[in-house]
Parts: sequence; structure tokens; C-alpha cells
Amino acid sequence: MIVRQLIKPQSIVVVGASDNTTKPGGMILQNLIQGGLEGKIYGVNPKSIQVEGVEHIHDLGALPTADLAILAIRAVDCPEAMRILIQKGSKAFIVFSAGFSEAGEEGKLIEKELVDLVNKANGTLIGPNCIGVINGSYKGIFTTPVPVYDPKGCELISSSGATAVFFMESAILTGLRFSNIYSIGNAAQTGVEEILEYLDDTFDPTTSSRVKLLYLEQVKNPFKFLKHASSLVQKGCRIAAIKSGYSEAGGRAASSHTGALATSDMVIRALFRKCGIVYCSSRDELIAVASVFQSKVLDGDRFAVITHAGGSAVMLTDTLSSNGLKVPVFAEDRTIELRKKLNPGSSVGNPIDFLATGTATQLGEIIDFCEDYEGVDAMVVVFGSPGLFNVRDVYEVLDNKMTTCTKPIYPVLPSLINAENEIKEFLAKGRVNFPDEVNLGKALSIVYGAQKHSFEKAVLPEMDVLAIRSVINTANNGYLNASETLELLTAAGIPMAQQIIIRDTTQLQAAAVKVSFPIVMKVIGPVHKSDVGGVLLNIINVDQALQAFDTLMSIEGANAVLLQEMVSGEELYCGAIRQGNFGHVVLGGLGGIFLELLNDTASALAPVAHAEAQSMIASLKAYPLFHGYRNKIKLSETHFIDIIMRVGALVLIAPEISELDLNPIKADKNDMIVVDARVSIEK
Ligand code: ADP
Ligand code: MG
Repeated sequence: MIVRQLIKPQSIVVVGASDNTTKPGGMILQNLIQGGLEGKIYGVNPKSIQVEGVEHIHDLGALPTADLAILAIRAVDCPEAMRILIQKGSKAFIVFSAGFSEAGEEGKLIEKELVDLVNKANGTLIGPNCIGVINGSYKGIFTTPVPVYDPKGCELISSSGATAVFFMESAILTGLRFSNIYSIGNAAQTGVEEILEYLDDTFDPTTSSRVKLLYLEQVKNPFKFLKHASSLVQKGCRIAAIKSGYSEAGGRAASSHTGALATSDMVIRALFRKCGIVYCSSRDELIAVASVFQSKVLDGDRFAVITHAGGSAVMLTDTLSSNGLKVPVFAEDRTIELRKKLNPGSSVGNPIDFLATGTATQLGEIIDFCEDYEGVDAMVVVFGSPGLFNVRDVYEVLDNKMTTCTKPIYPVLPSLINAENEIKEFLAKGRVNFPDEVNLGKALSIVYGAQKHSFEKAVLPEMDVLAIRSVINTANNGYLNASETLELLTAAGIPMAQQIIIRDTTQLQAAAVKVSFPIVMKVIGPVHKSDVGGVLLNIINVDQALQAFDTLMSIEGANAVLLQEMVSGEELYCGAIRQGNFGHVVLGGLGGIFLELLNDTASALAPVAHAEAQSMIASLKAYPLFHGYRNKIKLSETHFIDIIMRVGALVLIAPEISELDLNPIKADKNDMIVVDARVSIEK
């Protein structure tokens, strides 16, 4: 819960205050004073300190009430201080100190004590182990830089204080502006979920910032995260996030394909996609994406690249086109007039290169041309300076056009030394700069890609819920047997090949008259059947079947044999795996023996909406198979979407399924049918 006293405190006390600005207790006072808090600031220190604007308090006992308490003292001293502060009426706490749960068992206990105290007082605890909070009322951080508060600037929520500082340092230089900053540290009581909830509940379309940036080390409550992040996105916010620490979770016994394929990073990406959050992998990427967010909305994928320096334009064009965006060539007859206005030798194909001698007026003409040209959705202007002349007039034109044009214009101003002052003036007008064109190109592609993924709420396909529950309720932990598996999938509406289970040759003789050859025979017993020679394909008559039966039954662990019709077609795969409090992640892709080799899979958190399943399929490298690749038949996208959605709904109805593998699903243009399924139950 975020209390009013954290957001708009009327008084703040710093416990562990100092007059030495090289200490957190000193720097926080300086930032608070310069931050223009409308209210009283108290500084607690048994030794005397003298800081203008701060009332010195020797002993916490002598403190009148303070809404917000900022603690810059040793971890072990925090609980006692907090007890006194709560008695005095403090409701909000920011704890800078380290030495809590991140430091070991002892710290964990102290941290829990703080959380219990704050919860009992119905208050808010930010941290511990954080750099603090900045908002419209106060600047409660002990580090620099302290960004100028811009209510429409980016909101930043960071698990790591140091990363927030590093991020702001580079971001401010590129012109990004900030509003509220929440450094949540260990997130003992207040995590990213609670902050998002607060931002969602208090969102005001006229005054709230629309850009949210997250640096996360963990998501404790994915459902709360999903609820508020997607709600904010639906309200028009744009969110980008880095989630660090994705190297393999490890320790998970991967008995299924899905188990081997699903990584913790995949789960986070699936969560972000569901929320409409742009996934970023580095600070630079987050800055570039945030800067794209702060520009006009990108409403198409066709770019005009405008430059006076060929190389950068070529690198940018390469990046845009290799990431699925377009740099279309202009129709020659449309460029005749423009060409006349440029210096001889300029090229107007796209990129438009108006040469080193290009002028501000010419830039204006080019931008006007692109604004009018209906085949272009956005422009990138790359303009630096070799140090020989001033580019102020060029940047003025650029700034004007960015206001008057309806299409977004992204400025790449690479001359950080030669044009240092001109860039500063440009940024002072509220602009951002993309110093590197390739970073910009990548950011544009991920933002544009994420924009397409705006998913409706999943509608569950109709399924026989009672039958599903009855299979699950009666099943033991471990793998379902062949009949249970068939029953479960049938109840879920997932088509599976018919099967007959036989235990002796008499049963086989009887079965042979019912099946139509060719058939497939599989050993029942071993988990990975083909690894032990337990799958025999294309059996064309009873004699072969009898022989196959003997072979299969001689395999170690064999206890029966399964007869199945032989199905032709390409091989797809769909699976699901339970991922702790994230629920299940559903995977889909190319199946059969190449599944793990090619790893061409896409994922989504269950339940899966129709558009989400569709975008999963569209993101596969094997996607062309759904449109007929070379001489191959076209596979049915509709059928695969249906299976993915059904798997997503099945694990919701039967959360006891810990892993599910449909591999392969045989697919041709009219049909999709599962020929092998493994379902593991863990109640
Ligand atoms: P496992 O995964 O335990 O090795 P499968 O039942 O998936 O066993 O069989 C291995 C391979 O045999 C499948 O990937 C598929 O290529 C082929 N196969 C299995 N059943 C059939 C079938 N009914 N029709 C056609 N091919 C099949
Ligand atoms: Mg298989």
C-alpha cells in the first residue's frame, strides 16, 4: 500500500542526518533542501550538525511528528528507530541502508521486523537498500544526478539503486526527462507490483506521465504485475523494462521437451508481451526505447532516412531493413522538384543524402517533402558536424519541423563534441537525441513490433471441464498413462490419433482386423520411446505387426504396445509447463526430432488469447510453412491456433499438470492431429 505521506509528505525526517555531503545522510539533506519541499525537514544525529533549512534533533525521542522518515543508519539500528517513529506518527519510510536480506540470514530477520512494523502501522516501506524516491513534492535520494522534475517525463522504477543512477546519467545526456523515481531496493514491502498498482489506481489522463521504465530483478507477483501493467498500457501508457538475471534457473529436472526449452527469460518475455511491455536488454536500449516513446506515435513501418553523412545512413538503413522495417525508394517522378532544390550530386532515392555542404533550408525542404509523401510514416535525420561550421540553424529547423510535422522525426545528432553546445540547446527545447543510429534502428523495430502485440483478454475455448477434472482427480502424480492421456486431450478438444493398447498376440490379432494399415506401433513403458527403438513406423500387415510386437516387448521396461494409425504431414509441437507463481507458460513451434536442435519456439503465458496465439505462430522461423513453403503444402494456422489456445485453457482448468508435451502434432492443410503426448501431474 502506498500512503499519502510517501507521495506528498508535509514533513520529512532524516535519521542519520549529516552535514557532510559525501555521506548519504548529508547528500539527502542537500537534495531535499534543493528539491523545494513545502514543509519541514528534520535531521536526527546525536552529534550536532548545522545545515541551513534543517532542524537538528539530537535524539529521536525529541522529534515532533514527521510524515516521512528516511533512514540512513546501520541496519541493526533501523527497527528501534522505526518503532519510535511509528509511535510519533510517521507513516512512510524510505530505508537507504544495506545489510538486510541481501546480506544474509541475520539481515533477513531485521528486514522482516521492519516489514512487520510498517504493516502493523498501515504504512509504506520503500527499500531497504535503495537510493530513495523522487516525485513532484520532494527529492528523496542520496545520490546524484538529481533530474529536473518534469511531470510528463519518464517514471522510473528500479530494483537497483546503482543501475538507476547509471541509467539517469546517460539518459539525461540524451535529453530524457524524468518525473517520479522509485528505487525499490530489496522491495521488502513495496515492490514493482505495488508501485504499478498505485500508478494504475491514480492514473489521470491529463496530468500523469505516460512513459514508465522498469529495471527489475524479480517479479514476485506476476498476476498483480500483469493486471496493473496491462491496465496502464490500455490507458495509453507505454512501458519498457529490463529484467536482469535470466541466466538459466537451473536445478529443474527437464524430462520433457517443454522443460528443456522453457527458460526463466522466456517466462518474463511472455509476461511482458501479455502486458504490452517492451522488453529491453541494456541501459542503452532502454534509453533509446524511452526516447522513441517520448516522440510522436509511430504509426507505420516506412522510414525516410535523411542525412548529410552517407555511412550513418547506410548503417541505419541496414538495421531498419534487417529488423523488419522499411526504407522505401521514392518514386522518381515525385523527387524532381526536390532534386532541384538540393546541391548537385545529392541523392534522393532514400536514404536522402544532401551532402556535407547541405544547408538548413535544404533540410527543411526535404522534411516537407517526406511529410507530404504518403509512402513514408516517419523520418530519421542524421546530422552532425565535422567541426568546421556551426549547425545551430540546422537544429533550429529540425526542432521546428518536429513540432509542425504530423509524422515522428527522430534526430540522430552524433557530434557530441563538435556540436556540443548546439545539441545542448536542442535538448533544452525538450528534445531527445539518439546519438547512435543503429541503437535507434533497433529500438524502432522493437517498439513497432511490441505495438502490434496488443492482446484481448483470452476467451477460453469450449471444453468438457467435468471430464478433464475427472481424469485429473483420479490420476496419481507422475505421467498419465496412454488411455488417460487420450481421454484428457479428447475432453480438451485436442484431436489425438486413435489408439489400441495390446498386451499379447491374441489381442494383436483381434486388433489387426479393426485397424487400417499402415500403422505405427510403439512400446509402452519407456518414456523416450524412439531413443530405445520403441517406435516402429509404416507397418503394413499382420505379419509385420506380429514381428514388431515381439521386438517392442523385448525392450527393457516394456509392458504393452500401442497401435496407432500412421499419419502423414509436417511435425509441429505444443507444450506447457508450470512456472511457479507465473502459472503455466505455453510453447509452440516446429516439432519432431528437430525441436530442441532448432529451438524454433514461441511462448505465451496461459491462458492464451487468439491474437496472442496468432502472433506466437507468426514469430516462428518456420512461419512460411503456414503459407506454403516451396513445394510443401500449406499448414493450417487456424488449427494450430486452436491447439495452442486449448493447451492454454487446459492447464488453467487443470493446474495440477506440471508439464505437457504434444510432440509431434502431425499437420497438413486440413488437419492437425497429436500422435504423441506426455502429461505429467504434480498435485
Ligand atoms: P517419442 O517421442 O517417445 O520418441 P513418438 O511417439 O513421438 O515417440 O514417435 C517418434 C517419431 O515417430 C515422431 O516424432 C514421429 O516422427 C513419428 N511418429 C510417431 N507416431 C506417428 C504416427 N502415428 N504417424 C506418423 N509418424 C509417427
Ligand atoms: Mg514424441
